[in-house]
Amino acid sequence: MSILALGVDIGGTSTKLSLVDRTGAILKRAAFPTQGHTATGYQDALVDAVEQLLQSAPYPLEGIGVGAPGCDPVTGYISYAVNLPFSAPFPIRDFLSERLCAHTVLVKDSTAAALGEKMWGGARQMENFVLVSLGTGLGSAFYINDKIVAGGHGLASEMGHTIAVPNGRKCFCGRNGCLETYASATGLRRTCQELMGQEILPSALRELPQSALTARVIVQAAGAGDPLAQMALENLARCLGHALASVVLQLDPEGIFLSGGLSNAGPMLAERVAYHMDEQLLPAFRSKVPVEVSWLGADNAGTLGAAAQVYLGLPVL
Ligand SMILES: [Zn+2]
Repeated sequence: MSILALGVDIGGTSTKLSLVDRTGAILKRAAFPTQGHTATGYQDALVDAVEQLLQSAPYPLEGIGVGAPGCDPVTGYISYAVNLPFSAPFPIRDFLSERLCAHTVLVKDSTAAALGEKMWGGARQMENFVLVSLGTGLGSAFYINDKIVAGGHGLASEMGHTIAVPNGRKCFCGRNGCLETYASATGLRRTCQELMGQEILPSALRELPQSALTARVIVQAAGAGDPLAQMALENLARCLGHALASVVLQLDPEGIFLSGGLSNAGPMLAERVAYHMDEQLLPAFRSKVPVEVSWLGADNAGTLGAAAQVYLGLPVL
C-alpha cells in the first residue's frame, strides 16, 4: 500500500510543507510566514497547516520529517536559530509527535537537503558527496562512506563558519571572515555594495534603493550582462570555489551540489565555482569532482529532504 511522508522545511522567512510519496512526487503543498508570530502562535500555525494538509491526504501518513536551522537531531530541540520565533530552546520533535500523534524526525536543514539529493536527486548513485546550501547564510552537509557525517557532538559540517578571509567581514557569530559572510545571499549583497564604492563600472544596480538590492536582483542583473553584478557573483564563486577545494582535498567526494535560493543562479554559478575550485586543487584531483545545482530545485529541496528522512528510516522496498 502507498504511504506518505510529510516534509516540513522551517526557514527564516517561510515555513513550507509538502506531502511526498515514496517516489519523491509532491502531492500537496502549503506554506505560511515564519515571522510575525509569538512562539506559541507559531506552534499553533504549524499544527494547523499540518492538519489541513493531512485532511486531503490520499494515503496513510508514515511520519513527519522536519528540517530546521540551529537544531539538535539527538535531543529534537531547535536551540540556536536567530531567525526563528523561539526565544528559548524548543522541543519541536516531541511537540509535533505528541500534538499530531505521528512519528517525527528532525535534522538540520542542510542535512535534509543532502538526504533529499541522495534519495531522489543527483546523488542517488554516490556514497560520497558534499552539499552546500546558499541562502541567507551558508549551510553544508557532508555525506561520506554512505552516511551523513554528524561528528562527535552532532555539530559537524559548519562550513559556513570556517574562516575564508582572516580578519575579514564581521559575522553574526561574533568572529571575522567566515565563509558565509562572502558566499551567501547576504554575502553577495555586501560584495555588491562594496564594489559600488570601489569600482567605476557602470551598473543599473546603482539606481536601486538599498532595500531593493537583493541577491535575486543581483543574480538577474548578472544574467542580463551587468558587469558589476557579474563581478560580485564571480567574487562569490571564487571564495566558495577555494573553500571547496580544501574540502575536496580532505574528503575526495564524487560530487558537490549547490542548493538554496542562490542556486537559482543556475549552471552559470556552478560552472564558475567549479573553475575556481579546480584552480586550487592538486593535479590528481582536477576535473574529477563535478559541481552541480541540486536536482530537486531550490523551492522543493527543503521539504523533499525533510520527507526523505522518514523514508530513509524504513526498509528498502
Ligand atoms: Zn561566523
